[in-house]
Amino acid sequence: MSTVESSPPPNFIRTIIAEDMRTNRHGGRVATRFPPEPNGYLHIGHAKSICLNFGLAAEFGGTCNFRFDDTNPSKEDIEYVESIMYDVRWLGFDWGDRLYYASDYFEQLYGYALDLIRAGKAYVCSLSAEEIRDYRGTLTQPGKDSPYRNRSVEENLDLFRRMRAGEFKDGEHVLRAKIDMASPNLNMRDPVLYRIRRVNHHRTGDRWVIYPMYDFAHGLSDAIEGITHSICTMEYEDHRPLYDWILDQLDVPCHPQQIEFARLNLSYTVMSKRRLLQLVEKGYVRGWDDPRLPTLAGMRRRGFTPEAIRRFCELIGVGKKESTVDLALLEYCVREDLNRRAPRVMAVVRPLKMVVVNYPEDQVEWLDAVNNPEDPAMGTRKVPFSRELYIEREDFMEDPPRKFFRLAPGREVRLRYAYFVRCIDVIKDERTGEVIELRCTYDPETRGGGAPDGRQVKATLHWVSAPHAVEAEVRLYDKLFLKANPADEKNGTDFKDHINPDSLQVLQSCKVEPGLAQATPGSLYQFERLGYFCVDAVDSSPGALVFNRTVTLRDTWAKIVNAGKQKE
Ligand code: ATP
Ligand code: MG
Repeated sequence: MSTVESSPPPNFIRTIIAEDMRTNRHGGRVATRFPPEPNGYLHIGHAKSICLNFGLAAEFGGTCNFRFDDTNPSKEDIEYVESIMYDVRWLGFDWGDRLYYASDYFEQLYGYALDLIRAGKAYVCSLSAEEIRDYRGTLTQPGKDSPYRNRSVEENLDLFRRMRAGEFKDGEHVLRAKIDMASPNLNMRDPVLYRIRRVNHHRTGDRWVIYPMYDFAHGLSDAIEGITHSICTMEYEDHRPLYDWILDQLDVPCHPQQIEFARLNLSYTVMSKRRLLQLVEKGYVRGWDDPRLPTLAGMRRRGFTPEAIRRFCELIGVGKKESTVDLALLEYCVREDLNRRAPRVMAVVRPLKMVVVNYPEDQVEWLDAVNNPEDPAMGTRKVPFSRELYIEREDFMEDPPRKFFRLAPGREVRLRYAYFVRCIDVIKDERTGEVIELRCTYDPETRGGGAPDGRQVKATLHWVSAPHAVEAEVRLYDKLFLKANPADEKNGTDFKDHINPDSLQVLQSCKVEPGLAQATPGSLYQFERLGYFCVDAVDSSPGALVFNRTVTLRDTWAKIVNAGKQKE
């Protein structure tokens, strides 16, 4: 029974692999790969693919290669290469010595291209890019053969070698597969395999002026590496015949099976690197690691843990149908994880001064506070209590409506781990009328939070001792987009039209308990009653703390699940 529970949920890819293992299709081997293109930072969609590829390899005792698909140098950069490696490791996966670059195969790929030409399966075409498009036809109309389609093998070999030697201008010729201009699948209408491009490559420098197209490089890289199952997203389904065609024409070490699955989409989020790049370059966010982005770097900075992200990837499963996952599910996974690991502390983000008038002026008591009620092993700590405190501005109302049970004039509440206090006076700014200070009395008999006479209070507030408080900046994040599907750019709209202008709110002069003074970058806390927060890894320093709100405490996902259950 327990083995059933601990094994990952079934999915159709696992079923395919299990069957291949049973029939010894690849000699009992499982070899997957994760093939990012270094043209941006990894996002949570990539995490799905990483968990899937590394996860399947581990499960079947196979291997997972980490391969940079770096065949398009104009958009690629070494900064991306480095961030991608960092993020995969951070997520918890280890590729050991299995790091590869498609660019390392350029010479081999060139050799395969010569083989195709020799076999009469590829030709040098001298139409312009625009002409090639015109000749291609449409979904309803067949294409037309290029006038260069019947060049002799000798002429093609000569031209292709001279393309490589740099004898032609960019765009003057391309190498194309010779398949079928009338194929119902547009990808099979003599697709381009190589183009001339004088662009410096971050690994091969200026050694090459011709670069292979994705469809040519990808399948062959898989074959060179002995991949058995080449897992990719659904948009490559129509490319699969080309993937297979190329491998079928050539004498390759193996013929991997391409399997497509539905990419992850998240509500209120854009995922494509093209769009993320715009947000970064146009300054809508503060970089690839902005905590509002779905990038792994952004999520890490926000306080999401690798465990929470992996759990999310497990919960969403793997299928073939396009769908959009509710952002609330991701936040639910983060909460579940942080609830277990994050120590509780008290922090006041919108402070209101409270003076306890009957508390001795110079007295300080160090009270015991529980670090995590979920985990007794995390122990307790001491927090100082004194005559001057801060409470949350939202926890007081001068003229409270019926359902407001927190502090109000004349009312008594509990201060967490401390005493009952009663509000006896309200001090206001003379000019603005704003409440700037509360006067309270405390009941010394209620130390620890209970009254010996059994009287009850309706609220327990968090607080921080004013003379001991450490100042901090707190950044509250909300959804980056107001529309559930911002990438749906119908009727000439642009996804950027739906950016939430209030996605970041910065609160200065927040007050946190003194134990946080030395909090290290990246460490995670639950601010009692407010949510989970982490010390910003970039802008925070011991003298100038900055916290990011990771996620609120309110669990909308649990609500959705419960509402669903009630309906059933
Ligand atoms: P994007 O469209 O976001 O730019 P991409 O597919 O161009 O992504 P690659 O670097 O080529 O990005 O992707 C590396 C791997 O990650 C590929 O196998 C791809 O299928 C997978 N992947 C990318 N986005 C997602 C997603 N949203 N869900 C699942 N897998 C994804
Ligand atoms: Mg891509």
